[in-house]
Amino acid sequence: MRIEDMIMNKFTCSRCGHTECKVKEVAMSGTGLSKVFDIEHNHYLFVSCTHCGIVEVYDPDVLRGHKSGKLGTVMDILFGG
Ligand SMILES: [Zn+2]
Repeated sequence: MRIEDMIMNKFTCSRCGHTECKVKEVAMSGTGLSKVFDIEHNHYLFVSCTHCGIVEVYDPDVLRGHKSGKLGTVMDILFGG
């Protein structure tokens, strides 16, 4: 299962409790936002609540780095199961 699908399945908005979201993978170069956060490269997952529009950003490398059996647990922690 793709990480994006897993996030969509598990998503619960931390602000409004809505359970639908959009997931967009964004590549960052060494300018703009990434400069602000002192990040040189990488891809990030921008997860937007389709109800209130809040955006949360995740590092897919970190999420994918968990063994498949643990990934569900991580998602449960992020989104409260
Ligand atoms: Zn929301």
